[in-house]
Amino acid sequence: MGSPRVVIIGAGIVGTNLADELTARGWDRVTVVDQGPLPLTGGSTSHAPGLVFQTTSSKTMTALASYTVEKFLSLEVDRQWCFNQVGGLEVATTEARLAELHRRQGWATSWGVAGRIIDPQECAKLHPLLDPTRILGGLYVESDGLAKAARVVVALARRAQSGGAVFQGLTKVIGIEHSGGKVTGVATPAGVIPADIVVSCGGFWGPDLGALIGMDVPLLPLAHQYAKTHQIPELVGRNTELSEAGFPILRHQDQDLYFREHVDRLGIGSYAHRPMPVDLGELPDGEITADAMPSMLTFTKEDFAPAWEQCKKLLPCLETATIDTGFNGIFSFTPDGGPLIGESRDVAGFWIAEAVWVTHSAGVARAVAQLLIDGRSEVELHGCDVHRFEQVQLDPDYVSETAQQNFVEIYDILHPLQPRESPRDLRVSPFHARQEKLGAVFLEAHGWERPQWFEANAALVDQLPTVWQPPARDEWSAMFHSPIAAAEAWRTRTAVALYDMTPLKRLEISGPGALALLERLTTGTMDKSIGSVTYTLALDATGGVRSDLTVARLSEDTFQVGANGNLDLDYFRRQAPSDGSAAVRDITGGTCCIGLWGPRARDLVEAISRDDFSNEGFKYFRSKQVRIGGVPVTAMRLSYVGELGWELYTSAENGLRLWDVLWTEGQRHGIIAAGRAAFNSLRLEKGYRSWGTDMTTEHNPFEAGVGFAVRSQKGEFVGRSALCGISDETVDRHLSCLTIDDRRTVVMGSEPVFLDGAPVGYVTSAAYGHTVGAPVAYAWLPATAGVGTSVEIQYFDRRIAATVVAEPLVDPEMKKIRS
Ligand SMILES: Cc1cc2nc3c(=O)[nH]c(=O)nc-3n(C[C@H](O)[C@H](O)[C@H](O)COP(=O)(O)OP(=O)(O)OC[C@H]3O[C@@H](n4cnc5c(N)ncnc54)[C@H](O)[C@@H]3O)c2cc1C
Repeated sequence: MGSPRVVIIGAGIVGTNLADELTARGWDRVTVVDQGPLPLTGGSTSHAPGLVFQTTSSKTMTALASYTVEKFLSLEVDRQWCFNQVGGLEVATTEARLAELHRRQGWATSWGVAGRIIDPQECAKLHPLLDPTRILGGLYVESDGLAKAARVVVALARRAQSGGAVFQGLTKVIGIEHSGGKVTGVATPAGVIPADIVVSCGGFWGPDLGALIGMDVPLLPLAHQYAKTHQIPELVGRNTELSEAGFPILRHQDQDLYFREHVDRLGIGSYAHRPMPVDLGELPDGEITADAMPSMLTFTKEDFAPAWEQCKKLLPCLETATIDTGFNGIFSFTPDGGPLIGESRDVAGFWIAEAVWVTHSAGVARAVAQLLIDGRSEVELHGCDVHRFEQVQLDPDYVSETAQQNFVEIYDILHPLQPRESPRDLRVSPFHARQEKLGAVFLEAHGWERPQWFEANAALVDQLPTVWQPPARDEWSAMFHSPIAAAEAWRTRTAVALYDMTPLKRLEISGPGALALLERLTTGTMDKSIGSVTYTLALDATGGVRSDLTVARLSEDTFQVGANGNLDLDYFRRQAPSDGSAAVRDITGGTCCIGLWGPRARDLVEAISRDDFSNEGFKYFRSKQVRIGGVPVTAMRLSYVGELGWELYTSAENGLRLWDVLWTEGQRHGIIAAGRAAFNSLRLEKGYRSWGTDMTTEHNPFEAGVGFAVRSQKGEFVGRSALCGISDETVDRHLSCLTIDDRRTVVMGSEPVFLDGAPVGYVTSAAYGHTVGAPVAYAWLPATAGVGTSVEIQYFDRRIAATVVAEPLVDPEMKKIRS
């Protein structure tokens, strides 16, 4: 049998790249259809200025960009370049931006892209239109440059055609055909094109294409201004029509601007204007030419005027220049800025790859080709998966507001903990009213309000014993932080605290096929006694960690799964047997959870329950149905902070009462409510990993330090064969625990780590360890960097000394948690 029939909707940079990636892998029955003419379809690609800056805070996005650079460099059309590697220069005009550029340089180093901070003179030497007196420095990445998107699509289409692909312009897709939950083709005015797989690469038309099968595509088309000057005397004679540009592409993020040369003119992109959402029903129609197409709206000069003044300040040659042409070009923005990749939940074989920049296009296309052919992308994609969003985040008003916010903040300096200001209060736990009264400072995640610390605990800071007193922090790490976290950590380790664990995703997997499903998808033994709780992993076929889970067997056929997010729900639902013998239900919203942790937890709960909470009667990693103060509770003896205690689950309507009975009795035991800042510190001291930050599908369990959760002897499960022969001893990298020698410096994550002066890894999670009195960081390092190895972490413009230490830092004998 030949390869499956694939129809790709959209011949822009994404669709064409995908056709190329598929045909390169031998799939030769690929048809690319586009409503516009070929090769200039009228989509965003047709007018893209093509600046490729690779560095972002995301390892994945940077990897997708780096592959794009590598691939485009290898292409040409009739001996003309597809990638002009002129380099990328981002300049700072404020001290804050200069510091941010140092941070960005750190990310580049972490993700393997060479970049350096240069002084104003060197910036001006590289880009002589710059006035060095107006800048403080820059970040220069030599491998960045210009993609000629309109030429790339020609090069790739030719190559894909020689591999069997067919390109069909002026063919609008008006329907998606499907039968029995599987895609069967696309409908066009000329008839149906049959297909086994359909991939929508429709760019900002994505929501309309998704609507054809009822799939939410959470992106917003927004207009963004791009203008070209008349001839600039300083550029005359520098470039040829062929080379187009010779200076690095330039970003002036302090004013939301970027620049490139167009032979002897300058092109200027501006995000400095109001967000301009576009209604897909109001796109220009008519003949498509280089200057008129559906993705180009009329230039609104008044929106550009303030930006133009800023351009003149940065580049003095513009003082006498004038704007020749401009347009408001349309492209996609999403709630979190990431692309949208994935398969429909309802119609198997219908995929999307949208909200993708030219910068990431080849990387995304390769990832999709690998997903289709191998079932797995070599670059891990959890931040790109279209199913990462919760239901409330798919609402069009939410998408519109958050996407516009992303447009506004596109070049802003954003702190990793900085929460969005609006929309807020979308999802609150039953304890919310009590938390507000205690002065909770809420941060936001997936629509949930999550207390970071409680102002009500402020008075405890003065009571902290000397060894618990946290050092003063620098300005950056002090943001969205309070020393109150130290007091909350202290009380958790010495008395008892309530943690609101409600926002953590909970699934119920039930039915006669539930056990077999869990046995197949996880690394642990699931066929244990009722009441058992298991920490386990879900792996992909190559042994990469796709999630870590806590599975409680509540009855013969009912399991409660503590999961990491919507991607777990999506995975378990897709994997559930089609005969309906295992039901997968998201029970997060209908239930709630309190983590009751600390050495006094047992005293507290025993005082208000008739159930047996003794060490013998309620063992570690067991669950029981109990009543606490009259509230029916599923209690699990687990602790993510490394103290004695229980996770107490109840249905949502009982939540407030559960909080109140614990709080009232807790007064005799020194109870406090504690937030995520303390939680994160305590879990790092205990060495507990956070999936998505510390480990992903890029890592196998032994590298990530969770090999203990793999029970290969239990029989077959997804990923088992890939782990054959792999152990803690054979892996060549480790997620390692570090303490930072200077106790005043708390890093934030993603910083590069140096060994003997060379970058060898990067920080995943970090926090001040209040119990151990030192900043703690987890980092990916070569396995040779064993305990005692001295390393350095780059924090902004300096390197700080750190040491690899044995983990966990607190209670390695598990005495506290097990007694
Ligand atoms: C002014 C401006 C400047 C930009 N600058 C940069 C930059 O410097 N660097 C960068 O990386 N990115 C930049 N971008 C973003 C970049 O251009 C886009 O993200 C990218 O081109 C999107 O590619 P695509 O293939 O997903 O979409 P498109 O190129 O829009 O292709 C989608 C295709 O789908 C087709 N289609 C839609 N609906 C249907 C249907 N029903 N039937 C058949 N065909 C259909 C369309 O005709 C279109 O050809 C810029 C965007 C703008 C607007």
